[in-house]
Amino acid sequence: MVYVEKGSDVSDTGPDYAALLQRHGVRPTSQRLAVARVLLDKARHLSADQVMWRVKRERQCVSLATIYNTLKLFRRRGLVSMVVIEPGKVYYDSNTEPHDHFYNEDTGELIDSSGQMTLRGVYPLPVGTKPLGMNVVVRVCSHARFRKNPPEGSETALLEGSEAAPTHVPE
Ligand SMILES: [Zn+2]
Repeated sequence: MVYVEKGSDVSDTGPDYAALLQRHGVRPTSQRLAVARVLLDKARHLSADQVMWRVKRERQCVSLATIYNTLKLFRRRGLVSMVVIEPGKVYYDSNTEPHDHFYNEDTGELIDSSGQMTLRGVYPLPVGTKPLGMNVVVRVCSHARFRKNPPEGSETALLEGSEAAPTHVPE
């Protein structure tokens, strides 16, 4: 974990983000420190836009290009990881430990799972390859939306005997 909540850079005066950045080989400029303050204060997921607005709320002048460059640098130095939901929907995660996510399509919230799936017994790998890693994002929606319009083959669709129920019964 990189975020400072449980790290060693917390003193009586608060987290020492400059020390945290330096420990990861990042020169602590005022803009990088501002990004660190809004993203690395605890385990959280923020888009580049969200980081920018939070930095601006701190009365720091910063461009989106600078935010992207800083996030790219933080990622390269192991300060954040990146979770891609789909092209154009990317979150930066201050929890750099391997973990899976739930993504709520209704709220846009990305939630850490309590564990991580493994490839063992799930997928046969292509011949001549070995796994480097796996990050799963499970898409979820609110109960209200699910009850109103269950996706094809979903548990609710099967229980209610809707037309979406698959006709093939596994042996
Ligand atoms: Zn996460």
